[in-house]
Amino acid sequence: MTALLPCPGCGALYPPSEGPTDRYLGASAGCFALFSWYMVGNPEASGMLAESRIPEAAVVVPPTSAEPSLDVLIGDAYGVQHHGEESPQAIQSVAVHFLDLYGVITGKTTTPGWAINRGLRIKGVFHKLVPPAQGSALTIRHLFPGGGVTAPITRGQYVRSVYDTWMALHGATVAQWYERYVVRD
Ligand SMILES: [Zn+2]
Repeated sequence: MTALLPCPGCGALYPPSEGPTDRYLGASAGCFALFSWYMVGNPEASGMLAESRIPEAAVVVPPTSAEPSLDVLIGDAYGVQHHGEESPQAIQSVAVHFLDLYGVITGKTTTPGWAINRGLRIKGVFHKLVPPAQGSALTIRHLFPGGGVTAPITRGQYVRSVYDTWMALHGATVAQWYERYVVRD
């Protein structure tokens, strides 16, 4: 069996793959394939489900909630979790996806994507946020059975887990960014 390698963003374990990944995302090709195929409704087509695994360390699973659905924020959560390198583009990408999560989850806006557009108007004000330890939040792999997963999670639980993990470290910063660069004109 091929040795599995941890995705640098989420820590889930995937077989080596030469597939494409996003320029600014710190995702392994295997993780990016699973995410991309999942987003078009066909995760099996990634070829990654059978061989991949969740990280060893157990992660707290947030309760499912009935509040406004977080499902639509899955791309933001994935973007924040796969924070990438320290290029200005990667930093900007993490910041605006995090701001979008923050804006919708705290109820400051009901329009997903609004904070992204607002945040993208401004360049060079955001800084690199030190990521949480690899494997400390749920991953895309947790949405599917097998590979160490006995009870697959929902999209919303994934979003919430990534959000909570990043908020624990950077809640004050993202709140300040939101007031300064998203709300203000
Ligand atoms: Zn990943």
